Amino acid sequence: KARNAHEPEFLQAVQEVAETVLPYIAQHEIYNGKNILLRMVEPERAIMFRVSWVDDNGEIHVNRGYRIQMNSAIGPYKGGLRFHPSVNISILKFLAFEQVFKNSLTTLPMGGGKGGSDFDPKGKSDAEIMRFCHNFMSELFRHIGSNTDVPAGDIGVGAREIGFLFGMYRKIRNEFTGVLTGKGLSWGGSLIRPEATGYGTVYFAQSMLETKGDSFEGKIVAVSGAGNVAQYATEKAIHLGAKVVTLSDSSGYIYDKDGIDADKLKFVMHLKNEKRGRISEYADKYPSAVFHEGKTPWHEKCDIALPCATQNELHGDDAKALIDNGCICVSEGANMPCTPEAITAFHEAEIFFAPGKASNAGGVATSGLEMTQNSLRYYWTRDEVDNKLQQIMKDIHEKCVEYGKEENGYVNYVKGANIAGFVKVADAMLAQGVV
Ligand code: NDP
Repeated sequence: KARNAHEPEFLQAVQEVAETVLPYIAQHEIYNGKNILLRMVEPERAIMFRVSWVDDNGEIHVNRGYRIQMNSAIGPYKGGLRFHPSVNISILKFLAFEQVFKNSLTTLPMGGGKGGSDFDPKGKSDAEIMRFCHNFMSELFRHIGSNTDVPAGDIGVGAREIGFLFGMYRKIRNEFTGVLTGKGLSWGGSLIRPEATGYGTVYFAQSMLETKGDSFEGKIVAVSGAGNVAQYATEKAIHLGAKVVTLSDSSGYIYDKDGIDADKLKFVMHLKNEKRGRISEYADKYPSAVFHEGKTPWHEKCDIALPCATQNELHGDDAKALIDNGCICVSEGANMPCTPEAITAFHEAEIFFAPGKASNAGGVATSGLEMTQNSLRYYWTRDEVDNKLQQIMKDIHEKCVEYGKEENGYVNYVKGANIAGFVKVADAMLAQGVV
């Protein structure tokens, strides 16, 4: 704790894992006394670098770039890049640490990493984004590779940014390899990758509901965020017969009493992905909707909540409001969106709660499938990838139940995901010795 005293998000993520994994270690001779968790919390490598770039007016700016290479015991480092002004070492270490467990859960051979920059893409022109990405990659390239470390997108890094990053990597290295995932379809990308995190979050929730013979059909769903994960979680929930009533961004949320249907979602995708506008414009366009400035959607009545924006966006009082309003299922699309107080409230109320490292693992799993296709120099169809994604989410759900079922039958998915993720990485680290 003392060593990482100024890293609150990282400590929060480690604390949650330690609470569930330490008792397990104590009960299992092969892990006990090996300081295995202590080794896991220290990144194998943390890289920090300068990114200078020139804006459209010729002014020079300096941002900070990072790559945290957390653990490569079971495969090359894998994890997204985040461009957001809040990015710092604590946030990236928390994300990289979570990624290790998540990637292990996918059953695919991927270690964990995360990176990014405190660069703010909001309000920047395409040319400025391109110059930033090119300069970012002109340093990052020496630390990554298709067998070493394979970054992907995250907040602020979507298809456009991955394109610019890949272009520079290809130029400097003079090779075309699967060094990034989330690529465009015509240059090495995989079908279903854009949809995968949001779809996977809903598939996971569906698996949880099925344990009680329930489904999405006819349910009211509250979604936060309006980015990649939120858009496709909404799309899949609609497909499964639910009514999605909210979306949000950092300025507030919209509530649409009639539900967000496929046409309205198309408008949101255009608004957010092409126009790069604000979610408040949804309420200008559709009179059935109201925009609530500066608020999150958790006090609206819903059966299922899918937090898909960012860390610590759903607090203890929000959890209480959700439970009081009859919510039966929360599946995290974002990373660590629910605070520890919120998670405790869900567990005490014994409603379904899925932690992001299990429920949003569909994104990185499909990135793993993109890596496989790149290695094979082959493409799978949309159905092939979607079927593999669904199977992986089912397998992760089963693992969580196996390790997380309490004596009274309630499944603590946090405990299940942490222990299942831990076991595979710990076994690999033990087999490879102290390195
Ligand atoms: P996007 O950049 O596409 O969208 C992020 C959304 O969250 C935007 O609506 C954004 O609003 C909102 N948001 C960001 N920061 C804040 C904040 N501080 N307060 C309130 N709202 C905020 O990112 P993604 O959809 O890719 O990522 C969302 C979450 O999902 C993140 O936690 C990410 O780590 C996680 N995730 C993503 C994966 C992926 O495949 N993309 C995989 C696994 C997890 P605004 O536009 O106003 O900034």
